[in-house]
Amino acid sequence: MAKKLLVLAFALVIASAFLVDLGRRDIDAAGDGGTLIRDASMVITMDAKLGTLENTDVLIDGDTIAAVGRGLRASGAQVVDGRDKIIMPGFVDLHTHLWQSLIRGCATDKELNGWLDECVLPLQRSPMNSADAYAGGRLSALDSLSTGVTTVNDWPHAFNADFNRGDLRALVDSKQRFVFTYMGGKDPAISQEIRRVKKDVIDPNPLARLMIGTHPATGNYENTLASEKLAEELGVSLNVHLHESKTDPATGQMDALRRAGALRPGLLTGHTIHMTDAELDELAAHDVRVAHNPLSNMRLASGVARVPDMKTRNMKVGLGLDGGTNDTSDMFNNMRAAVGLQRALSKDPDRYPTPTDVLRMATLGGAEVLGLDKEIGSLTPGKKADLLVIDTQALNFAPKVDWPAQVVFNTQPANVQWVFVNGVALKKDGKIVGDTGRAIADAQAAADRVKTYLGR
Ligand SMILES: [Zn+2]
Repeated sequence: MAKKLLVLAFALVIASAFLVDLGRRDIDAAGDGGTLIRDASMVITMDAKLGTLENTDVLIDGDTIAAVGRGLRASGAQVVDGRDKIIMPGFVDLHTHLWQSLIRGCATDKELNGWLDECVLPLQRSPMNSADAYAGGRLSALDSLSTGVTTVNDWPHAFNADFNRGDLRALVDSKQRFVFTYMGGKDPAISQEIRRVKKDVIDPNPLARLMIGTHPATGNYENTLASEKLAEELGVSLNVHLHESKTDPATGQMDALRRAGALRPGLLTGHTIHMTDAELDELAAHDVRVAHNPLSNMRLASGVARVPDMKTRNMKVGLGLDGGTNDTSDMFNNMRAAVGLQRALSKDPDRYPTPTDVLRMATLGGAEVLGLDKEIGSLTPGKKADLLVIDTQALNFAPKVDWPAQVVFNTQPANVQWVFVNGVALKKDGKIVGDTGRAIADAQAAADRVKTYLGR
């Protein structure tokens, strides 16, 4: 351990030297299973001081980014050829429901409430079990890893405790960094189960965090209040859907949050579309954060979130994929949608977010929303090694013109060659580590069962 710390400290010294000296350096590090990505054509660090670098190495030692610089040497480390490759921080998906891969393609002609009525609410009265949750969660987790999502905030719909256990198991097995949003409520048995899950599963796992989910509304105030109280007790944040559909404001969502004392730093609100100026001011004043889900909002005809107005108010905003309602885990597609929606609405090609802005929202911005920006979100030496490697030599990506812009506008999940989470390669040479064939077959079997519950 002491040796590892020494090695890391040495690497950090070298990395800081890199700021003023781009010459060759030798590091005798990572002899016990580290990874050296050598001579990457471009490294988009998302670190304000390091910026975007060319012909640069990235050294991973254990779970940490040990150094970013030229001519790094690491005896015993696996070496990945970085030529013609772009390295960037892994994506943070702030809002999803992984199990919903089981209802991909369901009710594509419906807005939110119609979609819920057809594809989700019937399942509350059905024997959804841990095997269903695991199968859907497993498929989505692998799909999301394949696109380069290294941190995911997953919210199963709490059909029952058994379903939650299966979903959580899929997350743990994925080896992704994750936030598990557990649906709270006034039933003391639910609170007790959440305390147990935090103590037994979340706290011992360095990749895991907890949030409490609730649906704030006048008619659901007691559950909202109990969820907020439990979140305060456990020192975690509340996660809600807010003003997603045009019918949501009339249900008293903002008022329920206000009365429950839930408008506080760290509260995560998904969608947050149908907002008045005063409501946005109120969220900003309390450092409430937003998960923007452009693909889902388009699919469900929900509207366009006022992301530029949130930026003006210095709110922390990141991106979410929102599970089955956008039918994909493709974060590149999601970034394009975030840029495109605002341009289409404003007819202004400079409208926030620009491609540079949206890259930040999908990485460091998402980490800030979760309060994890000291650990992840940029390729800063000392942070956890969550990163992806993009191959530029593809029909849909070449030639080289403006690579950071091409990451937003051209990249597809198939171009992602390597994905590392906490220093572990979970996608190697373009292939996901794990039995994808079995994940697909299990998801099909579960989807066939689920379809009978839907009665479609
Ligand atoms: Zn959602």
